Amino acid sequence: MLHFDVFTLFPTIFASPLQESILKRAQEMGRLSVALHDIRDYTTDKHHITDDYPYGGGGGMVMKPEPIFAAVEAVLAEALPETPVILLSPQGRLFNQAAARELAEHQRLALICGRYEGVDERVRQFLATDEISIGDYVLSGGELGAMVVVDAVTRLLPGVLGDPGAPFEDSHADGLLEYPHYTRPAEYRGYKVPSVLLSGHHAEVTRWRRQASLRRTFLRRPDLLARARLSEADRVFLRQLEEVGAQGGGG
Ligand code: SAH
Repeated sequence: MLHFDVFTLFPTIFASPLQESILKRAQEMGRLSVALHDIRDYTTDKHHITDDYPYGGGGGMVMKPEPIFAAVEAVLAEALPETPVILLSPQGRLFNQAAARELAEHQRLALICGRYEGVDERVRQFLATDEISIGDYVLSGGELGAMVVVDAVTRLLPGVLGDPGAPFEDSHADGLLEYPHYTRPAEYRGYKVPSVLLSGHHAEVTRWRRQASLRRTFLRRPDLLARARLSEADRVFLRQLEEVGAQGGGG
């Protein structure tokens, strides 16, 4: 069971993604729970102000520290010391499958979503314990980033996906891109499914998939190969690809 506490100025952004498909089912199964906390509820001034002008001038607004500290401390209370408090930020460590696996080991995670020019630096320094970026681009708020983290982590929780082996075969699970998928019909507009997949020959299918996965990664993301878990047979196949230039499709 994994519980997320999400701190945001726009809690309704999360409604629809949490109410569909895998994330919905994970909650129904009791594997996932998500509590949305409106940072505005933790303001103490009459106008419920959550942002202010930046010291030093310049454009844009900065999210004030007080309501964010108050919200996180009130909600996490005694759980604060052992709960990772993750700030979504384009300056954080890059989120990837390894980071998702690591977060899936926890029982509780707090996510802070910034808006505007971002949050007061003291939130990052003295409240957050981790800072995560979902990619090298700038979003208008941390909510979609938080949703990406919730989604990627949840599908790794035991029992959430129908096929328990699926997360281990996915792209990035072992450092490679996954092989291509086909379903019926076997021929569509004259385009055929590779015959080996129809052969019923399990070992051949496994070998074809592994090679397709290696070929794809070699062609599209050679940077991944350096850190991938490879067998001796994989290495032999990759050397062949290097020599012949990866002909044979599947890329
Ligand atoms: N001025 C900031 C960007 C602010 S974007 C800077 O240049 O670093 C507003 C908010 O969107 C951020 O506080 C963060 O919570 C969220 N955000 C933007 N890009 C993101 C990314 N790549 N990953 C995660 N969160 C992001």
